[in-house]
Order: sequence, then structure tokens, then C-alpha cells
Amino acid sequence: AIQVHDVRKAFGAHQVLHGVELTVRPGEVTVILGPSGSGKSTLLRVINHLEKPDRGHVSVGGEPIGVRRHGDHLKELSERVILGQRSRIGFVFQNFNLFPHLTVLENVTAAPVATGKLTKPEARNLALDLLGRVGLADKTGAYPRQLSGGQQQRVAIARALALRPGVILFDEPTSALDPELVGEVLAVIKDLAGGGTTLVIVTHEIGFARECADRVIFMDDGRIVEQGPPAEVLDNPRHERTRDFLSKVL
Ligand code: ATP
Ligand code: MG
Repeated sequence: AIQVHDVRKAFGAHQVLHGVELTVRPGEVTVILGPSGSGKSTLLRVINHLEKPDRGHVSVGGEPIGVRRHGDHLKELSERVILGQRSRIGFVFQNFNLFPHLTVLENVTAAPVATGKLTKPEARNLALDLLGRVGLADKTGAYPRQLSGGQQQRVAIARALALRPGVILFDEPTSALDPELVGEVLAVIKDLAGGGTTLVIVTHEIGFARECADRVIFMDDGRIVEQGPPAEVLDNPRHERTRDFLSKVL
């Protein structure tokens, strides 16, 4: 479902991604681990073209993201087309990023209506269904500030699902939460795993990775150092840096 080929990205003189290669199969659940600054967020942001790679390219569902082929080279697509592509790739942020002035229901219906994917009544029905699935059927009229962090993050997940994306990217979805709220959000993500949606999740929740991931990727210094099934990477890492990192987070 996702193909990342030779992606390089620098900010000024700082090379943040050094030629990343990654293939994620449809329906696969991938967890990305790695130290702070290793390029995990940048890689997710490149996948949905919130950051433009300096070199290399990304395709999702066989479609190149942000560019089209023009003879021998690639041409940047218009912002409008990129927005359309991005709407097919869900993104859940660390800090929820809900619209503060909209209710829970409106947060979930806004994008499908604005993009013309659904009529208002269709979006409302879908949103009520999704909010039920994430355990928030009784909060549809609340505003984000009236919710706990865990509840806000579950709204953010319902909002991502409302666009029926084939792929959802999660960037540390539980790291801003109080410890007792982490479980409820992981339970919702766990529910999605195995449901056919391709999930890429940056998280340091090793227990979750062990239980739900098909594949674990360890990144360090802008490179994928090691990847494989959780039992290999987490319990039997081949690289010193992976061992060292795991000894600190476990
Ligand atoms: P963390 O675990 O702390 O979230 P990360 O692995 O997600 O780290 P990135 O956010 O991808 O790391 O950042 C990688 C490096 O790129 C960092 O050194 C960061 O300071 C730098 N960086 C990221 N975004 C920008 C930007 N917009 N401008 C300049 N430098 C940036
Ligand atoms: Mg990050």
C-alpha cells in the first residue's frame, strides 16, 4: 500500500532522512521506534507530503504522492490535487489537533463534507457510527475542551476514519496522554488493526507493538536500522543500537 523509495530530506545542513526505503503491504500494521530526532515524524510527514522529499519518492496505493511523472522527471502537483491525495491518508497527531470551536460531531463531519465526499446527512450518520465505535456516542455535542486527552484523541481517530482512508499514520498518538488514558486510545487502534486499513504507528508502547504489529521498524539517525516481526526486532535485535534503545525503553 505504501512505497517509500530512496527518500532524502534535509533541513538546512542537517540531513534528517538518508535514503529511506520502505514497503508496507496493504492491511499491514507497522510500528516505528527510534530515538528522539531519528526522523520518525519527518518520515510520516513525507509520506503524506506535509514535507516534500529532496530526493526519492513515495507512492500510496500505487499513486505517486505530490508529484506526477513528466517524461523523465517528476513534476510537483498542484496544491489542490495534493490536498485530495492527503485526504486519502489519515493522520493522527500527538496533540490531537481538533478544531476547538467545533463540537465532537462537527469535528468528524467537517472534512468529508468540505471535500464533497459525503452530503451532510451521510457524514452525520457515518460520524455517529464512528463515534460509537470509539466509545464516544454520548459526547457528540461536547467541545474538545470539555473532553479528557484520551477522549480527544479518540475523536481525532474517528475524524481520520471519516475520510475512509486506506492508510492511517499515527505520530505518537498516546505520548501526550496521562498514563491512565493511554490504554483506551491503544484499544481503539488495536480495534482498527486487522480491519484492513494499513496502519503506520510511531509509538514507544512496546507492549502494543508486540501484540498488534505485523512489523517493527527501528530508525536511528535518519535510517531504518532494522525491521522485522516484533518477536525478532524486540526480543532478538541484531543491531547494537536497537538493543541499546530497547534497554532504555523497556
Ligand atoms: P521525536 O521522537 O522527538 O518526535 P523524531 O524521530 O520524530 O523525534 P523528527 O521530528 O523527524 O524526529 O526530526 C528529525 C530531525 O529533524 C530533528 O533533529 C529535528 O530538529 C529536525 N527537524 C524536523 N523538522 C524540522 C523543520 N521543519 N525545520 C528544521 N529542522 C527540523
Ligand atoms: Mg516525532
